[in-house]
Amino acid sequence: MAPKKHNGFMMFVNEWRKTNSEGRKMTMAQAVSKCGDIWKNMNAQQRGPYNVSAKDADVTARSKVERLNCHGQPLSVVKREEMEAAEREMRMKRTTERMVLDGKEQHDLENTKFIFVAFNYFSKSVTNDIYIPAEFAACQFSLKSGKCSLYSSHINPGQLIFGQGSETKHHTMNTHQLPLPPNALGESDIGRLYANIVEYLRSCNSDANPNNSFVVFTSTELMDIVKGCFRYLESDSEEPLATVHIYDIQYLLYVLKKEVMDVADLPSEKINKSITDNLFINDFFEYHAGISCQFHEDNDRGKYCAQSKVSRWCYLFSDYMCGDLAIKPLPGKHMPPKQEAKFRVANPENTSIITNKAGSSGNTTYDSFNSLHSAVKHEIFDHSAFSANLNGTQDFPSLGGRKPRSNRGPLAKGLASRDARSVWNVPSSNCSVNDLEDAFDMPRR
Ligand SMILES: [Zn+2]
Repeated sequence: MAPKKHNGFMMFVNEWRKTNSEGRKMTMAQAVSKCGDIWKNMNAQQRGPYNVSAKDADVTARSKVERLNCHGQPLSVVKREEMEAAEREMRMKRTTERMVLDGKEQHDLENTKFIFVAFNYFSKSVTNDIYIPAEFAACQFSLKSGKCSLYSSHINPGQLIFGQGSETKHHTMNTHQLPLPPNALGESDIGRLYANIVEYLRSCNSDANPNNSFVVFTSTELMDIVKGCFRYLESDSEEPLATVHIYDIQYLLYVLKKEVMDVADLPSEKINKSITDNLFINDFFEYHAGISCQFHEDNDRGKYCAQSKVSRWCYLFSDYMCGDLAIKPLPGKHMPPKQEAKFRVANPENTSIITNKAGSSGNTTYDSFNSLHSAVKHEIFDHSAFSANLNGTQDFPSLGGRKPRSNRGPLAKGLASRDARSVWNVPSSNCSVNDLEDAFDMPRR
């Protein structure tokens, strides 16, 4: 409760009672009534000292009593928690940036490896942030190799939290639909599962890692769930076998895209977190068959499968960035293994602002910017599937929405000689080094 406020009049009454012999014999009520008359006849100057000391008393009282928020939590504790959360987020961002920049500085961004993880859960405990896991999946990703070393397991926690039966049933039925304990599928020895997962993480990190400290990425939505599931796994072991830092994959997508564009010498100033977040949330591979575990494949719940989730993230990252680095996408690595032939790649000529009036003679001319702009045709892309002909010279469909570089100041020489086929979309084997240099505006050495 907030401390009671002091007022100048009561300060005067208290002093009067102490200093006046008549006042010492009076009760509080008598003193108040007596002092009321005296106070009425006092001017502002005479009342001043009492009003000031009332304010002083307020400040002193406030500092003695902990201030609480409307939930009854001490403000100092809430503030400290907020600061710690902000610090954690800052550390997450800096570490993610460091991982990407290290790869870039070593000219090896395309081989920089990241671990993606996802969990499905049965229920969440009310009193602490523990989630009872139902399914785990992890994989390693790099732009060059796409998805690799997939680890996936169903989990049988044996029992659920008492009193949460209906909530668990509701959540399960609306999402992954895995059978509930005690009939749950998969690993029932939680200690062994935890040790296996740590061993997997260790094997993914080629460098010696004496602290057993690992960074894994998951979606913003799953962050608390993954943290809670790891807490559950750790609780079965005497002491944590490793420190697992769970970071936001959506921030990684943003940072990585920026640096990939920079490496490819493409304009990246239009890439912002909202764009990459939207792209991530749209989840183009959401209903793709053949990338889930057998249970979810058979029950048509692939969307909710943990294995499908980590795979989809790999395909999304590949789809968004491999084109920038002219990395040829491989089925099963950079895109789902089974393709449907319903994807149509727009002819790059339609999206180029260059009109080659002189035909193939190589004399390229330009229209004015406005007329060029109107020549741009928009094709509707179906990003949910890829071209059936993977060996052809069709472009790898990109979600990047790269536009011709009309925003890069005066049309440069590089743009003039750039072939109307957007060169960076074509696998590198199909264009000469000269073409690439022109396309990327790189100085000739
Ligand atoms: Zn599954």
